Parts: sequence; structure tokens; C-alpha cells
Amino acid sequence: MLNEYLGTKTQDKRKVVYCSSCGHVFGPISGNYKLHALISEGPISRAGPQTDPLNKNKKYVFRQFCCPGCYRLLESEIVLRGSPVEWDIKLAG
Ligand SMILES: [Zn+2]
Repeated sequence: MLNEYLGTKTQDKRKVVYCSSCGHVFGPISGNYKLHALISEGPISRAGPQTDPLNKNKKYVFRQFCCPGCYRLLESEIVLRGSPVEWDIKLAG
């Protein structure tokens, strides 16, 4: 398991990342599963009412990554607007 929502398994002799809820396979563990997820990006105020109550912060965005198979929210992050979708490969072990 990579986290509560993502697991790893061997498929066709390679280790892949999959959704622990519906089994959707995102691709090899060496890749970036986020690039195969549904991505929603918006103002950081979406992260919660205390994050940016006046909705003035335009420098950062709130990203959410969902499984395309079951729409379960897999991960969310606040990042600089326009920054690439990255995955902390250390999670992959
Ligand atoms: Zn799923």
C-alpha cells in the first residue's frame, strides 16, 4: 500500500499502482500516477474556509486528484500556480 487509497501489485511482470477501492490501474510504479488521475484545480479557498477567506490569493492553486474508475478523492495539494504535477517517488519505496 502506498497510502490509504493506493496500492501496488504485480501485473504482467511489472509493479503497478492501483486504486484500492475499485482496482483501477494507474500504470507502473516508476511513473507518476497523478498524470493518470482526474485532476481538478481551483482557488485555494476550496481547501477550507480558513485557507483564504477573502479569496485573494492568486499565486497558489488547490489541486485534487481523483480515481477515473470510482471518482474517489486520492490526494490533494496546494501548489504554486502553473507548477508541474509531481509525485513524491519516495512513497513508492
Ligand atoms: Zn477507484
